[in-house]
Amino acid sequence: MRRFAYQQSQSIYDKLETLLAWVNAHAKQGLKVLVDNGHGSDTPGKCSPDARNGLKHSPLYFKEYAWAREMANMMCDVLNALGIDAELLVPEVEDVSLTERTRRVNAWCKRLGKDNVLLVSIHVNAAGNGKNWMSARGWAIYTTKGETESDVVADYFCQRAKMVFLPPLRLRLSKDKYLERDHEENFYILHKTLCSAVLVENFFQDNKEDVAYLKSDEGKASCLDVMVDGVINYMVNEWANILQ
Ligand SMILES: [Zn+2]
Repeated sequence: MRRFAYQQSQSIYDKLETLLAWVNAHAKQGLKVLVDNGHGSDTPGKCSPDARNGLKHSPLYFKEYAWAREMANMMCDVLNALGIDAELLVPEVEDVSLTERTRRVNAWCKRLGKDNVLLVSIHVNAAGNGKNWMSARGWAIYTTKGETESDVVADYFCQRAKMVFLPPLRLRLSKDKYLERDHEENFYILHKTLCSAVLVENFFQDNKEDVAYLKSDEGKASCLDVMVDGVINYMVNEWANILQ
């Protein structure tokens, strides 16, 4: 088991371990967290300009599929260690089509009930066509259009992101207001899946500062922190209601 490098609120997580064990022991069926790691090794594009130009030894060589897989694996490890049922939606390294990924999610929804499944899709944003470094940067989260349970989930991610991603890092919130912090787009994986679903755009792969951050230990730990904390706080506050 990989050891998780939480810098912040270690004591909260120690307490949560007991709470979450309770949730899992008492809930008829626990919440299943499906972690989608986006694209595959064979997906065209989806990398930094230095990776696109084949600069293998550049400190800014970055491939979205690899980073997202590393994050997804760590996220499952941490959630599993806390007693939460989490698993990779795409264990494969190659690209798995959106229709197949959606089919996998909905198969779980049919088996466990859609209210007992939560999908987190991990991505890294891009502003240009991949050839040039761009100025746009920052973290954002997406849900489908309209107000759904997914907005509640997304808000927990945003609350944590506000604490963790401080300037010069940028937060791209739609509006800094409850349930309106996320961006809304009917992305296929969000729109066609039956359960609550959020898609995280973890900074920009064509911005130099963002790529340096994403590749750093601090950046990885913080991106992971936001996603894990978002899931846990959603479960504890909204789903299990055990803190009352
Ligand atoms: Zn992506």
